[in-house]
Amino acid sequence: IDMNELDSLVFRKAFISILLITVSILIVVIVFWFTWRNLIEEKRLSGLKSDFINNMTHELKTPLSTITVAGRTLEKAQINSDPVKVLETAKMISKQSVNLNQLINTILEVSLLERTEFELDKQKVNVDELMHQIVGSFLTSCDGCAEINEEYKANGISVSVDIVYFTTMINNLLGNAVKYCDKDPVILVSTMADNNDFQISITDNGVGIPHDHIDHIFEKFYRVPHGNIHKTKGLGLGLYYVKRIATAHGGDVSVSSRPDLGSIFRIKLPL
Ligand code: ADP
Repeated sequence: IDMNELDSLVFRKAFISILLITVSILIVVIVFWFTWRNLIEEKRLSGLKSDFINNMTHELKTPLSTITVAGRTLEKAQINSDPVKVLETAKMISKQSVNLNQLINTILEVSLLERTEFELDKQKVNVDELMHQIVGSFLTSCDGCAEINEEYKANGISVSVDIVYFTTMINNLLGNAVKYCDKDPVILVSTMADNNDFQISITDNGVGIPHDHIDHIFEKFYRVPHGNIHKTKGLGLGLYYVKRIATAHGGDVSVSSRPDLGSIFRIKLPL
C-alpha cells in the first residue's frame, strides 16, 4: 500500500464532506441570522402599532369625554342663567370638535396616501408667496403660538406643487416645531434655490432629536419615547406624511438636530 496515495485519497474524500458540512453550517447560520433579524423587526413594528393604537384611543377619548361632560353641563337648568358659563362650555365643545376633526383628517389623509391611486394635482406656484401665506394662516390658527421669522431667498421662483398636500406638509413641520419645544418657540422659515433644487428649511429652538432616534423619525407610527407616552399628543404620522409628500413631488426631506438646542428640517424639491 502506498501510504502517500492513501493520505491524499482520504483527504480528497474527507474534503468534500468537510466542504459540504461547512457550507451547511454557513447556510444554517445565515438563515438563523435573517430569521432573528426579521423577528426583531416584527417585534419592533408590532410595538409601534400597539403604541399607535394606545395613542389613538387616548387622543379620541379625551375630546369625546370633554364634549360629553360639556353637553351634560349644558343640559343642567341652572347653567342657563349664566350666559358666560354657557359661552365657555360652547367654546370648549367647539375646540374639542376641531381637535377631533383634525385627528380624523390626519388618519384619513395617511390612509389615502397608502392607496395606489394617490395622485398629486400639481401646479406652478411662487413658493415664497405660498410659504408666507401658510405661515400667516398657521399663526392665526394657533393664536400666535410662536415667533416665526421668514427669510425667502428663492427670488420668487415657481415650483410645481400640489398646494393642498404641500400646505399640510409645511403645517406638520411648523406644528412639530411648536409641539416639541419646551421654551417660547422661535422658528426660522427660509427658502433658497440653486440650478436644480428648491430648498425650504424650518429651523426651531425645540428639544431636538436624540441621535439614536433620528434615523427612524420618518417611519410610520414612530415616536421618540419621552417617558410619559401621552405627554405630547401625536400619532407618529406627521413626519411619515411629510416624507411621503416630499418624495411624491420628486424631492426629499432631511433633518439635522442637536438635543436641547433644536432641529432643522429641510425639504428639497426639484425645479
Ligand atoms: P408625532 O408628532 O405625532 O409624534 P411625527 O411623525 O410628527 O409624529 O414625529 C415623530 C417624532 O419625531 C415625534 O414623536 C418627535 O419625538 C420627533 N420630532 C418631530 N419633529 C420634531 C421637532 N421639530 N423637534 C423635536 N422632535 C421632533
